[in-house]
Amino acid sequence: MRSMHEKSPGHQLSPSSWNRYEQCPRKYWLSRQKLPKKASMPASLGNAVHNSLEDICNLDLNDRAQDESGWLPVTSKEILDRQWSIEKEAFLSSPRHPSWKDELISKAYQGLLGALKMLVGKSDLPNRELSDITVWQWKHVQSRVLASEGTLESDCGRLMGRLDLLIDDVDDKGRTKGWIVADLKTGRPPTGDLDPKVNRQLLFYRDLLKMGRSEHPDIRAEGWYSSDQTTHEATGPNVIDDALVAWEATKPSQIPLEGRPGDFACRFCDWKAWCPIWWKATTDGTLNNNGTFRDEVVRIISYDETGGAGLLERSVAVDEIGTLAPSSERLGFIVRDRAKLQLDSLIEEGYDGAVFIGGARMTTKVLNLGDWSEILKWRPLLEGTGINQRNST
Ligand code: SF4
Repeated sequence: MRSMHEKSPGHQLSPSSWNRYEQCPRKYWLSRQKLPKKASMPASLGNAVHNSLEDICNLDLNDRAQDESGWLPVTSKEILDRQWSIEKEAFLSSPRHPSWKDELISKAYQGLLGALKMLVGKSDLPNRELSDITVWQWKHVQSRVLASEGTLESDCGRLMGRLDLLIDDVDDKGRTKGWIVADLKTGRPPTGDLDPKVNRQLLFYRDLLKMGRSEHPDIRAEGWYSSDQTTHEATGPNVIDDALVAWEATKPSQIPLEGRPGDFACRFCDWKAWCPIWWKATTDGTLNNNGTFRDEVVRIISYDETGGAGLLERSVAVDEIGTLAPSSERLGFIVRDRAKLQLDSLIEEGYDGAVFIGGARMTTKVLNLGDWSEILKWRPLLEGTGINQRNST
């Protein structure tokens, strides 16, 4: 298979970058321009659970009594506490972050226990209570885990992904009847079919795994939702050809890729302060901006730094390259906490241009900004930095 494609170690496509590209090519392009990254609690929570699960799967238990029980929940909590601290430090040192929510560690712990129960459920052990699992039984579970957090790469080097778990699925005689590629999900489980992008991501892992092997047992790809401990199998044809098309389309480029504004894609886009297209679509009424939490491009008309209140003018997008025009629409605003620090810092450096306001809470013509929101310079990016291309590995 390696000979099918020229080896290209530089640019690689992962399932998350493929999804980002499919949602909006400009979103993908902006994500590659070394702009300041935004941290989020759901992502940090997911990382802590994933990394804890990996640690527990790789635990060396040789120095413990084989029949010891009651250790698994305790050890899992210790491991999660350690991973939680690592995530917290990374979160708080990221240039763009809301407030850290320590209380969510209980949700993370429940997620981790749910994932462990699912893993135990795949290993035909008689007891399923985690507190009853002995050291010997956990070693048995570990023997079914062929890989945890393993990296998959296509023969050509263009496609890569990190799978959470590869499980040896055995029959009642202990013989391998298949492999299960399990991707752990800490978000909301689907009520019907898998979300298409999750389905594609799972198929991507499945097909990458097949790609490097002339012989393998049946391979199934499943989403494991830890909150309700349900598994959802991905179905569909091989996606490798489509992924290679996406690889071609996502090659590093100085020229920004096309923007495809949409309510869902733009709502969850971290790069709006650098994207002039969503604001034009908002100005034109193509995008909905009427929710309680809003993103805006504005100019500050007046601001009382002591009281943290002021008046702003909503800017109007003239074109898709970020040109703005004034408007008669005025809104009051109240700012505090982290958002106030950001605004005060802009004022202190003498900045008086347009600003992007992310996640403002609207209450009767007043925008409320706090730890949950951010204030950034409005900086439409119309050309690549070149940093990405020089640094690509
Ligand atoms: S804000 Fe919308 S249009 Fe702009 S890059 Fe993000 S998803 Fe695409």
